[in-house]
Amino acid sequence: MDLCWHRRDLRVTDNRMLAGRNALPVFVLDEAVLEHAAPPRVAFMLDALESLREAYRERGGNLLIERGDPSAVVPTLAAEFGVDTVVWNHDYSGLARERDEAVRAALDERGINHEQYHDAVIHEPGSITTTDGDPYSVFTYFGKKWLDRDKPDPVSAPESVSDPDDPGGIPALSDLGFEAPEGSVPDAGPDAAENRLETFCDGPIRRYEEDRDYPSRGGTSRLSVDLKFGTVGIRRVYAATENAKAEAGSKEERGSVEEFQSQLAWREFYTQVLYYHPNVVTKNYKTYDGEIEWRTDEEGFDAWTEGKTGYPIVDAGMRQLREESWMHNRVRMLVAAFLTKDLLVDWREGYDWFRKHLVDHDTGNDTGGWQWAASTGTDAQPYFRIFNPMTQGERYDPDAEYIREYVPELREVDPKTIHAWHDLDDEARPDVGYPAPIVDHAIRREVAIETFERARGEE
Ligand SMILES: Cc1cc2nc3c(=O)[nH]c(=O)nc-3n(C[C@H](O)[C@H](O)[C@H](O)COP(=O)(O)OP(=O)(O)OC[C@H]3O[C@@H](n4cnc5c(N)ncnc54)[C@H](O)[C@@H]3O)c2cc1C
Repeated sequence: MDLCWHRRDLRVTDNRMLAGRNALPVFVLDEAVLEHAAPPRVAFMLDALESLREAYRERGGNLLIERGDPSAVVPTLAAEFGVDTVVWNHDYSGLARERDEAVRAALDERGINHEQYHDAVIHEPGSITTTDGDPYSVFTYFGKKWLDRDKPDPVSAPESVSDPDDPGGIPALSDLGFEAPEGSVPDAGPDAAENRLETFCDGPIRRYEEDRDYPSRGGTSRLSVDLKFGTVGIRRVYAATENAKAEAGSKEERGSVEEFQSQLAWREFYTQVLYYHPNVVTKNYKTYDGEIEWRTDEEGFDAWTEGKTGYPIVDAGMRQLREESWMHNRVRMLVAAFLTKDLLVDWREGYDWFRKHLVDHDTGNDTGGWQWAASTGTDAQPYFRIFNPMTQGERYDPDAEYIREYVPELREVDPKTIHAWHDLDDEARPDVGYPAPIVDHAIRREVAIETFERARGEE
């Protein structure tokens, strides 16, 4: 029997550490991890643990739930149950690796065998490198190699599962000291994840390339939360996309599936960036000769968090985040650009807000997205290419459907007026309780460019 330590792999099927084992599964509620967590993610995680426990019960076993420091809990359990080996799947952030190192050391000290597997990604960090063996710092070649490589099939389920006498209870959110999440949280667990995967692969994936940028079309998979918590296996996701490709009726549809697969490669690209540069969480990946002079703008930051900047697409996104603990990708790019360029607020403040509110917050993807928008990242947006929130809104939400869904004040306002909000003078702007723009984009754009040029020493 092996002690199988679940972390961000909350499923029984297509789980590398479990394949073919006689498993004694455990989940440890780790105070150090909870310190960095936030209500939407903890709520999702607790529901996912219920589903995981149920899945084990269906196999005649149960999931042990423990609380404490894994470097104390895991070796103690291993000794108590006399297991052969302790197994877990790798996690790639700096904090997770420190924790795992401490557990490894504690197990070594007690002479307990342990093994680790790469599970959360298809191609683990270090397996796709330049010809010199260095990690890639731009996506293009990484992505091409990632797509060209053979992909592993989903792995088998455990052979058997133990049913310990005292498996421990799954706490409520409040027992862990968290408030209820402000926004809704998606259904958690393997069935919900499989449902999202199948629904997406049955149709939207074939139009993904066209639809993915239009937030009102619901054209994306919504699998980010499942990939974050591992309620679905990445090999299973890839296999489903390959089936969709085989069933695609045209070159365009096949291209759409490949576009989706390439997003999975982006996720693994950012995972390897985080693996090799754990400090991207707090430090700019790309440095300029001088410091970027970020501003302190409490009022602007508050307006941004509340969805009251007077830029409708930005506000719709920020309100979607608070309502659904999730935001559409194109809009994430726009709100991040608005904060870091129009308001010149440090990306770390935006990242922190996202970390607290996103149910799918993933350290690699979140820092990757923020640093891209702030022009400090790996494949960073050049500092002089600054999104115009009005034209972007008009282009990707022409009928203002998305905007009107999340900004009720604008529901009765026609799309043309909404997209011209910035250009209207105060008398022409309908009095619907929605604010005038808090900054003038044209001016702020110039200020941002000058600020970045100063940081580059070009003034
Ligand atoms: C500022 C900013 C912050 C972000 N923060 C996160 C985050 O915390 N967690 C997160 O998972 N994604 C993050 N992203 C990336 C992207 O916005 C989300 O992955 C996507 O919106 C999730 O919705 P989906 O699952 O429907 O995506 P789909 O379009 O269906 O994509 C499928 C999967 O591919 C991966 N993916 C898609 N786009 C990207 C991308 N640009 N970078 C890396 N992986 C990608 C995700 O795992 C996603 O679930 C961020 C992007 C930006 C610009």
